[in-house]
Amino acid sequence: FLTLGIESSCDETSAAVIKDGKEVLSNVIASQINLHRKFGGVVPEIASRKHVELINPVIEDALEEAGVDYEELSLVAVTYGPGLVGGLLVGIAAAKAIAYAHNIPLVGVNHIEGHIYSNFISHPEIEPPLLCLTVSGGHTDLLYFEELGSYQILGRTKDDAAGEAFDKVARVMEIGYPGGPAIDKLAKEGDSQAIDLPRPLIYDDNYDFSFSGLKTAVLNYINQKKQKGEEVPQADLAASFQQAVVDVLTAKVFKAAQDKGVKKVLLSGGVSANSHLRRELEEKLDELEIKLYYPQPKLCTDNAAMIGTAVYFKYQLTGEIAPYSLNANPNLKLG
Ligand code: ATP
Ligand code: MG
Ligand code: FE
Repeated sequence: FLTLGIESSCDETSAAVIKDGKEVLSNVIASQINLHRKFGGVVPEIASRKHVELINPVIEDALEEAGVDYEELSLVAVTYGPGLVGGLLVGIAAAKAIAYAHNIPLVGVNHIEGHIYSNFISHPEIEPPLLCLTVSGGHTDLLYFEELGSYQILGRTKDDAAGEAFDKVARVMEIGYPGGPAIDKLAKEGDSQAIDLPRPLIYDDNYDFSFSGLKTAVLNYINQKKQKGEEVPQADLAASFQQAVVDVLTAKVFKAAQDKGVKKVLLSGGVSANSHLRRELEEKLDELEIKLYYPQPKLCTDNAAMIGTAVYFKYQLTGEIAPYSLNANPNLKLG
């Protein structure tokens, strides 16, 4: 059973061929990071034009690498939201054209479900009940799965997403784009206890998150240092900021894991690549004999393999296919 996955919701144009929902035959990712770096963030207009240029070659490459012809495909899977509307439309148009021309069922999927299912590629044995924390550029969602395909949203961010906080802090620190990997690296040389930063909502009796106050605290710290004519201890600041984010995420996941009595927790989204988050959460959950799963690095950030896998599982469960009128939904919500 071969699924062609297509992803173009942000600044990665990606296509993948997935066998039986878990074996990645190819996963081609054309990243536009270098194109957007000088703007310090993704410029939607530039992104959509680049997707138009890249989508067909990327799909062709994915099929060639997998050694698969269009005729052999069983399913075409595409992200239809959330994301940038221009980019989404490019992927959807390509997916529809292939599905129509070769008479293959078309299935649309939520990008965040893709992130969640990226864990099933490395670990197809995963079974509910489980918790999943998605920490990405646009989302911080804590979900409880009693069974596959039905989840309860326990909490989410009230303002900035975790990845967004990494990116914004890296920007004011002027250490590179995207911010997550830059902070992750710099933090290794710093002292995570050096600077006292807030841990928003950490002891609140809910599963909500908030990161914009933490970002402002970092900004204020930098401004105070500059006013006093003192140098900003960059590595210590990166480590202290990262520690604050990790402390909050770990505390909330730990509390939810206890409340729900699960034995499995999944991490997903770009921030799940963070080495410190993985280590601290793994150690903490170990106290409860809970196993932590996270995707391999290439599958943490945007890619089409996760889209193919998510759709494979969804299709096996429901058999639902999308009409040719499938449209982009930039604000698509989970559930
Ligand atoms: P969404 O999935 O919510 O639509 P997105 O697709 O832009 O948003 P992802 O591709 O999942 O987000 O992840 C990108 C984010 O992950 C960026 O904010 C980036 O800084 C962050 N990130 C990547 N690697 C790391 C890392 N090692 N540590 C922390 N953050 C990281
Ligand atoms: Mg991206
Ligand atoms: Fe994403």
